[in-house]
Amino acid sequence: MNALVDFVRSIYNRNDFIALHEPRFSSQEHRFLHDVVDSTFVSSVGKYVDQFEDDIMRYTGANGAVAVVNGTAALHTCLHALDIANGDLVLTQAVSFVATANAVKMAGAEPVFIDIARDSLSLCPDALKEFLTNQTSLTQDGQCIHNSTRKLVKAILVVHTFGHPARLNELLEVAKTWNIPLVEDAAESFGSFYEDQHTGTFGHYGAISFNGNKIITTGGGGMILTKSSKTARQIKHITTTAKVSHPYEYYHDEFGFNYRMPNLNAALGCAQFASFENVLQQKRELADKYQAFFSGTDYEFVTEPSYARSNYWLNAVICHDAAAKVSLLESTNKQGIMTRPLWQLLNSLPMYKRSISTDLTNSEWLAARCVCLPSGTFKEVE
Ligand SMILES: *Cc1c(COP(=O)(O)O)cnc(C)c1O
Repeated sequence: MNALVDFVRSIYNRNDFIALHEPRFSSQEHRFLHDVVDSTFVSSVGKYVDQFEDDIMRYTGANGAVAVVNGTAALHTCLHALDIANGDLVLTQAVSFVATANAVKMAGAEPVFIDIARDSLSLCPDALKEFLTNQTSLTQDGQCIHNSTRKLVKAILVVHTFGHPARLNELLEVAKTWNIPLVEDAAESFGSFYEDQHTGTFGHYGAISFNGNKIITTGGGGMILTKSSKTARQIKHITTTAKVSHPYEYYHDEFGFNYRMPNLNAALGCAQFASFENVLQQKRELADKYQAFFSGTDYEFVTEPSYARSNYWLNAVICHDAAAKVSLLESTNKQGIMTRPLWQLLNSLPMYKRSISTDLTNSEWLAARCVCLPSGTFKEVE
């Protein structure tokens, strides 16, 4: 696909290496970082953490937002807050970055891998329902128990793959029927809306990532979205070693984590957020360009589901077979255009090989054919 190489070069207007997703900074980042260093409040205290939480809360329409050190920590905290413990099961997808399953393991639970839907590339409500119907029962006190292992199913963890919103209404309905809380791994979907509501605000909790490769970055960072200001306070407590505020005593009233986002990172986040609308606009413009380029070819460009407005965090094409995928990866990478396959399916990794998996036909179909394309902003941000 030499035409693709030329096309990507023309969009980015560059002849050197083009990365999959690079952050972009303006003078605003320099100003805020200067300010935070001058203030000496670079660590656990400072105004930028509050401001960044407020920015994200208002933008997403969540009732609470708690900034943490990264997206994995955000997910871990959400699962911990749901009382997930050793021996529990969490239903999730095999199509994701490894952090999704790792967070389940960090909480002491085991992931169960369920197939994705082809329209959203995210957890399939029908496959989820099938698993719950065939393999679980509700106990008298309303807990969902896995029949063969007698383990409790304590959460459903859905990932908005590449930023494209999952089929949330149907997933929420299944979750309600089986009395299982839904958590959204919205690590990739900041700026993505299901119907008119921001992803990460549908489930009990939503977790966003601000890692360097995400749509905006704090260097490393994450945010937990909550349904109420009360749960946000509880989450904040857990992520700040559960220290009870006191003029001088060190008293911690439960087991907690040191997951608070440093003020230094939050300053970067505030600056990045200031130009977020422009970034989002560029991402959608870029996706339109790719879509036009691939139309009428053997490659199917991945577009947002009909019910959603996606941030197009990561652009992807589905090749007609595995050989076409390999050939596309080879030719682009050889010519300095960074493209990547889908993550290896999580159930195929050594530490998750023995986890329970259902039929993963769609996940395997995607893994065999998917190629991710350069998706960073292609011009200066305002
Ligand atoms: C990036 C990502 C994470 C983890 O976020 P970090 O900030 O890197 O810890 C989790 N889940 C998904 C789907 C991601 O893409």
